[in-house]
Formats: sequence, C-alpha cells, structure tokens
Amino acid sequence: MVETRESTYQRRLAALQASLPAAGIDLLALAVTDNLRYALGGYAPTGDERFCALLITPTGLAFIVPSLNADQARANVAVPMHTYQDAEGPQAAIAAALGALGATAASTIAVDEEMRADHLLVLQATLPSASFQLSGTVVAPLRSRKDADEIARLQAAAATADAGVEAVFAASRPGVTELELVEIASAAMRHAGAEEIVFATVAAGPHTALPHHHSDATALQAGDVLLVDIGSRLNGYCSDITRMAIVGGAPPDAEYARVHAVLEEASRAAQAVARPGARAREVDAAAREVIAKAGYGDYFIHRTGHGLGLSIHEPPYITSADDLVLESGMVFSIEPGIYLPGRFGVRLEEIVYLDAEGAHVLSTLPRAVRFG
Ligand code: ZN
Ligand code: ZN
Repeated sequence: MVETRESTYQRRLAALQASLPAAGIDLLALAVTDNLRYALGGYAPTGDERFCALLITPTGLAFIVPSLNADQARANVAVPMHTYQDAEGPQAAIAAALGALGATAASTIAVDEEMRADHLLVLQATLPSASFQLSGTVVAPLRSRKDADEIARLQAAAATADAGVEAVFAASRPGVTELELVEIASAAMRHAGAEEIVFATVAAGPHTALPHHHSDATALQAGDVLLVDIGSRLNGYCSDITRMAIVGGAPPDAEYARVHAVLEEASRAAQAVARPGARAREVDAAAREVIAKAGYGDYFIHRTGHGLGLSIHEPPYITSADDLVLESGMVFSIEPGIYLPGRFGVRLEEIVYLDAEGAHVLSTLPRAVRFG
C-alpha cells in the first residue's frame, strides 16, 4: 500500500503526540527544520527570521505561520493555523495558538534543537515560568526508525552519490584541481537525479589527512592519495559516501595499502556487529579495535558514524560512549578513518540500514582503492 503524504504526516503527528505524556512534555515546538519536514511528511514552509513553528500537545496542533506563507501552508497541511502580518509580529498569534491548545500554562516545553535563538526567546518570553528542553528525546526515536519508503529514497539518493564518485575517479589525473573535481562530482550527482548537492569534498595528497578539508585550487600530482566524500539529496533524503583513489603516474606512499586494508577490515567488523539489539558503542568498538590492534588507534580521530535521513547528520550517533540499542529501520554511516598528519588520510564510508538480518550497504561501489 502506498501511503499518501497526508496519511504520512497524520501518522507521524499522531505518533509524536502519543509520545509526549511518557516523556513528561506538555508542548512540543518544531521550528522550520528537518524535524518539521519530517512531522509534516516532507513539507516545511520557508524558514527565515519570521517566527514559524508547529506547536504539538498530546491532544492538539497549532501551526503559527507568517501570513505571506499561509496559503502555501494551507495547500500542504490541514492543521489549525494562526497567522500574523510582518508589521504586527508573532506574539498575538502565539498567544492565540496557546489558547486554542489550552496550553497557556504549559510547564515543560520541548523545542527543536535547530530553532533560531530569537524564536526561542519569543517563546520563553510568552511562557516565562515554563522549563525548556530539547525535542530529541521524542523526535529522534521516531525519525531514526525509517520505514520502507524512506529506505527506498535513501537508496535512490545513494545511487546519485555513487555516480558522483565514479565521475571524479574518471576525471582524476595530474593537473586537475580539487575544485574542478568538486564541480564534476556535483554535475554528475545532478545528472543522476539529485535535487540538491549537500556537500562535496575532494582532497588530494596531504589534504586527505584533514577529515574535513575544504577543497581548493590545489592540482593533483602523480601518486597522490585522493579522497572523495560527497553527499546529495533526492526526494528529501540524503546520501553520503567516501571512497579513495590513487592518482596515476606514480606509486602512492608505501604505507597506503596497509592503512586501506586495516580500514576495510574495520568496516567489515563494524558491519558485522551492526544489527538490531546491538548497542551503538559496540559498532564503534568493532571498528576501533581493528584499527587499534593495527597500531593506528591514535589516528582514528572521530566517531565511527552518524545517522542519515532528511538530515545529513542525525541520530543515531555511532560513538564509543553511546549506549543506544540499535533497531530495525535505522540508517547510519560506518566510516572508519586513519589520518597520518602531513602525509595522507584514508576513510571508507558506507551508509547501512538495519533489518532483522543485519546491516545492508546502500552503495553499490566497491571500497577498494582505484588506481587512475
Ligand atoms: Zn558521513
Ligand atoms: Zn561523508
């Protein structure tokens, strides 16, 4: 059965409402972020300095929307709306929304992590005696368990990123710059159907030792290690992949093959542990142990992975300290890396989704290094 967007957002809003009492939350306020986009089945109004939030109580909904965006919002979601003009400001609309919800005395309020500070201050001024907390406790458990439609969208997005990696490798040769390859990756992802390029990093030579290098006009040299980490968005959902190549014409650093092999083993070890019932930290430990045993523990300087969905980084986070029990439908990266300062770095990044059988990789590209 194919769900309509309306039935999707009604189901999600009902699930959010149902989760509030157990969490002790009187009112949940979602700003124009991916949390709202999730709650409304893919729709969120334009976000800017104008106050805009969906207020959710266990029994009611109220959408505060600037009047210039109201027609658009009404065409997309059937929830009670409270609008205001630019010149009057949102205070009266917020008060009316709280009144309609019977929430003028709400004492525990959860707000979107990414709500603008100025909007949070308006809410706090409206409800001065309330205590405020973050919405993740109720939103993350719902968002992190993807349904079949969401996994299909992630798979389609992953295919566009695969195309981007292939295009970069095909174009890599001495003299081409990192930024030219970023353009090639972006064009290939768009050509493959991506609606947005979320990020594109191409790093060459010693730049690969910086996990978040900003690509620049550096030209590739023969024998350079090349790291491609790119992500797109398709049907609202993100992709994220990292693959490695060696620029042709000269052999790479003599230690390259060993580092790559260690990371391949770390990736497999983490994938094998990643299944419903395992803890996030156990997945991290599986990768970290392989790397530490090989003597590179000090050079794996980040967590093993992050969730992926409407946002490029979202729960669950695969860290050494996270006790979260993984569940079927969760989607996250497994991206062990080893970074040897001043020399080179290697990262192998897969996005996996979990079902009863374990972890399934979304990309169809091999992880082996490419020689150009
Ligand atoms: Zn990632
Ligand atoms: Zn990445």
